Amino acid sequence: MVDYLIVGQGLAGSCLAWQLLQRGKRVLVLDVPGNNRSSMIAAGLFNPITGKLMSRTWLAETLFQSLYEFYPQAEQNLNQKFFYPMPLYRPFLSVQEQNEWMGYSAQPENQKFIDHIHTTSAYGDQAHDAFGGIVIKQCGYVDVPVFLQSIRTFLKEQNAFAEEWFDETQLQHSATEVTYKHWKASAIIFCTGTSKTNLWKAAPVKPLKGETLTIKLNEKPKLIYNRGVYVVPGNENLYKVGATYETQNLSESITEAARFELATRTRELITLPFEIVDQNWGMRPTSPDRRPMLGHHPNSKNVIIFNGLGTKGVSLAPYFSAQLANWLTGSAEILPTVNINRFKALYSKS
Ligand SMILES: Cc1cc2nc3c(=O)[nH]c(=O)nc-3n(C[C@H](O)[C@H](O)[C@H](O)COP(=O)(O)OP(=O)(O)OC[C@H]3O[C@@H](n4cnc5c(N)ncnc54)[C@H](O)[C@@H]3O)c2cc1C
Repeated sequence: MVDYLIVGQGLAGSCLAWQLLQRGKRVLVLDVPGNNRSSMIAAGLFNPITGKLMSRTWLAETLFQSLYEFYPQAEQNLNQKFFYPMPLYRPFLSVQEQNEWMGYSAQPENQKFIDHIHTTSAYGDQAHDAFGGIVIKQCGYVDVPVFLQSIRTFLKEQNAFAEEWFDETQLQHSATEVTYKHWKASAIIFCTGTSKTNLWKAAPVKPLKGETLTIKLNEKPKLIYNRGVYVVPGNENLYKVGATYETQNLSESITEAARFELATRTRELITLPFEIVDQNWGMRPTSPDRRPMLGHHPNSKNVIIFNGLGTKGVSLAPYFSAQLANWLTGSAEILPTVNINRFKALYSKS
């Protein structure tokens, strides 16, 4: 008997399992790691100022404080390295943009995330930045595959991981208990990303396909460059470039069009010569209002969901896994803007 059966060990399932273990709960996590087509593909970037309009990300202060505590603490406990804070540089395209940013940077709520504004080229030996650019702080990346593998190894040592695909037909649940094959738990938590389950078939998780390139650089970039694409460090002289956003063509394969788009944007961003050595694709689990989904099923209090991390799993998962774990252990409420309740009209039919 465990407290929680968790289905899925991407960023959502991994952070939640870790949070519950930290609170003295017993968990069993089911996953087939080879099937992960989101967390394993992610470049792992975190950046408090994002999007085409470069605005402060939703709940930036809270989320970034949480992630800056969560990953280093997990690194320490797991004795592994996967958290890499690093400034990010976004070149300006015009004098007008430069002026706009001078204005934004004066606002106190933006100041803590802005390191410096360059009004002339500062990294011209590596990037196209004739109009200067903005250096953003509190950015960096998580090596997600290493993080997931470290959590999995830890779970295995606790006999808390089973490498198998969850078969819903074998699940039985009552008001107080769930039974799956020979395992029993107080509740089951679905962290399955874009994989649909019957119980949650009406939860509005939509796949947003993304493709990335792995490129080889002979010179090390001085920081993370980001405009149109990002160039994020990987192993040795390999870097991840991403990503595309595709809602229509959800083919489960890489495409020539994405390779062309990413390569073109990379050439527009950096001056360093590069060689493409790999290309990958994945499906982000998004929600209609771009907010995560947490909470219980309308018909069962012990059937729970943690999903909808969308394009920002690295920065959303630490804070919202803590919120879900606190709610499960009775010490906090779920924020209404992320409560799965908001989709009740859709999912109560399932
Ligand atoms: C190309 C690309 C680039 C990205 N870059 C970034 C980035 O730089 N920064 C960032 O913050 N985010 C990024 N993301 C988004 C990030 O990857 C997601 O927000 C996050 O991975 C979602 O995590 P998840 O755990 O909800 O889902 P997933 O990672 O999809 O995990 C779900 C897990 O559940 C398992 N599963 C599903 N059904 C079953 C079942 N029946 N039985 C057993 N196991 C099951 C799957 O195998 C999988 O391991 C990127 C995504 C893509 C596709």
